[in-house]
Amino acid sequence: MSQSYQNLSPGDKTVPHPLSHCRHPTEVSTLVRYSVFSLLKNSFSGHKNWAPAWREPQPKKEYDVIIVGGGGHGLATAYYLAKEHGITNVAVLEKGWLGSGNIGRNTTIIRSNYLLVGNNPFYEWSLKLWEGLEQDFNFNAMVSQRGVLNLYHSDPQRDAYARRGNAMRLDGVDSELLDREAVREMAPFLSFDNARFPIMGGLLQRRGGTVRHDGVAWGYARGADLRGVDIIQNCEVTGIRIENGKVQGVETNKGYIGCKKLGLAAAGNTGEVAAMAGMKLPIESHVLQAFVSEGIKPYLDTVITYGVGHFYVSQSDKGGLVFGGDLDGYNSYARRGNMPTVEHVIEAGVAMIPGIARIRVLRSWGGIMDMSMDGSPIIDKTHVDGLYLNCGWCYGGFKATPASGWCFAHTIAKNEAHALNAPYRLDRFRRGYMIDEKGVGATPNLH
Ligand SMILES: Cc1cc2nc3c(=O)[nH]c(=O)nc-3n(C[C@H](O)[C@H](O)[C@H](O)COP(=O)(O)OP(=O)(O)OC[C@H]3O[C@@H](n4cnc5c(N)ncnc54)[C@H](O)[C@@H]3O)c2cc1C
Repeated sequence: MSQSYQNLSPGDKTVPHPLSHCRHPTEVSTLVRYSVFSLLKNSFSGHKNWAPAWREPQPKKEYDVIIVGGGGHGLATAYYLAKEHGITNVAVLEKGWLGSGNIGRNTTIIRSNYLLVGNNPFYEWSLKLWEGLEQDFNFNAMVSQRGVLNLYHSDPQRDAYARRGNAMRLDGVDSELLDREAVREMAPFLSFDNARFPIMGGLLQRRGGTVRHDGVAWGYARGADLRGVDIIQNCEVTGIRIENGKVQGVETNKGYIGCKKLGLAAAGNTGEVAAMAGMKLPIESHVLQAFVSEGIKPYLDTVITYGVGHFYVSQSDKGGLVFGGDLDGYNSYARRGNMPTVEHVIEAGVAMIPGIARIRVLRSWGGIMDMSMDGSPIIDKTHVDGLYLNCGWCYGGFKATPASGWCFAHTIAKNEAHALNAPYRLDRFRRGYMIDEKGVGATPNLH
């Protein structure tokens, strides 16, 4: 398994010209390739003459592939279908606007610090794709490899992190086990002698970091559109038509649209959308909240997390602290959470960084998580011919966006899983091959 991804290198690939697979020359000819020259040219007109980054097409009668969900995973899938497989007769159907789902709601953390065989190569491939992404899709997504530091507070936890760090290194992934003094040097403002959570050290992945989340949606959307993919916003899928065990198309609020293949990438709505195809999945929907503080001077130049109290934080380029913690802990489709979790997250944050008690919270919001029973995702074909499934990202799916789209595109194009997503088969729950990274069993609200 490790060989299969170590041989792949996004940076080594010759990137085809974005227009090379294009089907709509007249419609896309107004779209520009971003460069220092286009920036300079547009600065002379006060940046008022930029062309739209993608078209607003009406749906065609039929497509080779339809993707349900214009979030990060759906858009990335369409992009890689066109770029890697030359399949451009594709539509992405999004019931809201691009970025209205979790892709625009997450706390922007990326990393590949996983322990288990199924996860480790997949997430490392994702990080490799992040590393070349902006050049690849010609869009500034503010990929910032500022490091991700996970704190530990006890000897057993240090042993667990040493094990995880060693597993990462065996797979060629960077990791460093830091002692207390090394952590203090990086982040002197942490509460080292906290009575409940005294800090003993941390596991650092320097190549981890943050990415501007909505920039990812826009970059993939633009890159897919340039290659001829139709991105159709405000188009809700309300039914899936299946005849003789084969997918025929989808019912939408814009009418029926036929397709040869259908990929579901609806994240928190997966349960509802899969039910349209008569499938009941091992997925629960939970709400997760995120928070941003008022802007403060540069203070935190990495991402810091701790699992025992559960808090993760980074500082945005505007100066706000972006942070989050646990799920709300009950099933919901509401994109907002409740006060007990707000209190819990803030308490956990103040326990880790006492100084943030003096900062005001500016905003909070929620997103709906598709929580799987083992905490790991599903990228697979289904029992219905032409129907493919991408879900179960829990609250860590943002970092997976490039690899998820890349593998899902492969699975749809070739009608079989790539080696990287073969462990993420749906039938692993029946076969007993679960990928229980956190070791908490079938308890979705703990993943
Ligand atoms: C608060 C919060 C913090 C998070 N923090 C992180 C983090 O720091 N790092 C990390 O790796 N992950 C994080 N995540 C998780 C990550 O954001 C998600 O796992 C990931 O974004 C899910 O994939 P997506 O981008 O495709 O989802 P979405 O953006 O939700 O895309 C799914 C889309 O499907 C559309 N849809 C649903 N039903 C239909 C339908 N019937 N017809 C048409 N369209 C439909 C929805 O409108 C939505 O736009 C966080 C999530 C939240 C909410």
